[in-house]
Amino acid sequence: MNHQPFETWLLDDKVLTAAEKRELNSHLRTCKTCSALAETGLALRSARAASPAPGFALRFQHRLAAQKALERRRLLWGMILLIAIGLGVFGWFVAPFVVAFSEAPLQWLLTAGSYFLYVLTSLEAFSEVIRILARIMPDFIPPYAWMVLLSAFAGMGLLWIVSIWRFARRRPVGVTA
Ligand SMILES: [Zn+2]
Repeated sequence: MNHQPFETWLLDDKVLTAAEKRELNSHLRTCKTCSALAETGLALRSARAASPAPGFALRFQHRLAAQKALERRRLLWGMILLIAIGLGVFGWFVAPFVVAFSEAPLQWLLTAGSYFLYVLTSLEAFSEVIRILARIMPDFIPPYAWMVLLSAFAGMGLLWIVSIWRFARRRPVGVTA
């Protein structure tokens, strides 16, 4: 039996004219192969048009919201943990000073005062050195070297800012609750 052009029409989902439809129907009545093909096409088309189960979108949204809430909770706990560790380390560093102060306040104040004076004089000396260098250096260093130095410092500063920014933006990934 000749199945053309009906087979092609069915496979291509061709839009048929009234005359073509009549021809196809008469062929389908006599041909098992083509009527099976036509049925398969119909089944496929209805499967393709099948809509998702009712409430699917809503359930999906709920799951997404729950996932986000979980992520936020993890982030919060991560921050709390970080702060707790930070406070612990800080306390560990500060505790000896507190103990020393409570044991001998006057002694401690004297020590702290002398240390403060030492830092102050060091800073003064340092700034003096910087001042002298600043007065002498321009005679030794040509202008283009200053430009190179300044741009290097600017680049380092930029790098530092970027690294801090990236660290601040990084979110804990793969933290298991
Ligand atoms: Zn046929």
